[in-house]
Amino acid sequence: MSRPPLPLDRAVKPATRLIHEGEARSGYGEMSEALYLTSGFAYDTMEAAEARFDGRDPGFIYSRFSNPTVATFEKRMIALEGAEAGRATASGMAAVTAAMLCQLNAGDHVVAAKALFGSCRYVVEDLCPRFGISATLVDGADLAQWRAAIRPQTKVLFLESPTNPTLQVYDIAAIATIAHEAGARLVVDNVFATPILQQPLKLGADVVVYSATKHIDGQGRVLGGVVLGSEKFVMDHLHNFLRQTGPAMSPFNAWTLAKGLETLALRVERAQASAGAVADFLADHPKVSKLTYCGRADHPQADLVKAQMAGGGTLVAFEIDAGKAGAFRFGNALQVVKISNNLGDAKSILTHPATTTHQRLAPPARAELGISDAMLRLSVGLEDVSDLLEDIDVALKAV
Ligand SMILES: *Cc1c(COP(=O)(O)O)cnc(C)c1O
Repeated sequence: MSRPPLPLDRAVKPATRLIHEGEARSGYGEMSEALYLTSGFAYDTMEAAEARFDGRDPGFIYSRFSNPTVATFEKRMIALEGAEAGRATASGMAAVTAAMLCQLNAGDHVVAAKALFGSCRYVVEDLCPRFGISATLVDGADLAQWRAAIRPQTKVLFLESPTNPTLQVYDIAAIATIAHEAGARLVVDNVFATPILQQPLKLGADVVVYSATKHIDGQGRVLGGVVLGSEKFVMDHLHNFLRQTGPAMSPFNAWTLAKGLETLALRVERAQASAGAVADFLADHPKVSKLTYCGRADHPQADLVKAQMAGGGTLVAFEIDAGKAGAFRFGNALQVVKISNNLGDAKSILTHPATTTHQRLAPPARAELGISDAMLRLSVGLEDVSDLLEDIDVALKAV
């Protein structure tokens, strides 16, 4: 292996780190990161294999444990998040499941915000109880509910902010304090904010999880996830859990995601600027009855957004003033914006949460979260903003 490509001992900015961090050049000196698409690694001698396994030689053993390309992705995420350590996983849900189960035992208790991504809610509400881990769901915006839910057995508090799809914002620093006073850890799913706009570890969270499938890939290609935290958390809990249970990231996906990180800051900034323009346009439109965007002064928690986020993000939630039928007419009339359930893509994406991502929830549970039949979630992409505004304008006329 040739020398490390850039001496990153100078304090360079995140955008610079995202391009150079963690390169693992082969002897050919390639500029673009090599893709080490291999399941295993060869040892020169029997003794070398022994040393690898007993830890005297820290090299690679097997790609279920680690892989040079996966390590490049992990190093970029660790640098970006300002974490001590992190591990990549096959998907965002593998990251969430591992982050929870690696540290929980039968008899433990979890407190989570109700407004969670559907599969995250399954992990907390259905999966954990099957293994004797109880859970209490609270209104994440109400600090008194978090405090009241704490029990002596509480080990983990779990939240997502901004929430999917209602874009509520929770006070990460205050909830971290509640967790720490109870001797518990706070786990934050930071997908909607992205690591560019919000850094939960700096706000006091103990563990951050991402679906890298979203903005980190940013072009709708591969699944991936990552769990970030302290060296101690990773070594005491996560490391062995992932090695032995095997939700490993594919080297191919790691390569795609590591290249995605090189443009993450640029993409998030551009999509966020367009999201702001789209939100302003929708807010003033007579056929839109409700508009939520984290970057607007009329967001219900605008002060909190300013305190913990560097911008409003790339997602907009709104209601069409004509119920489900109106929301469907609007969606069906769009030409540039696509109908899908992904987000954080270069392509703008419209989702109707009540009939797709949140269909599993019973109508009262949806109502409690503020997910009405008229509500739409728009993930703003990288198209020219004037084309997006025109597409939305024309589709609103069809309502
Ligand atoms: C998409 C998503 C996940 C799950 O990630 P996958 O990569 O699809 O497994 C978890 N949390 C949030 C907030 C998400 O948007």
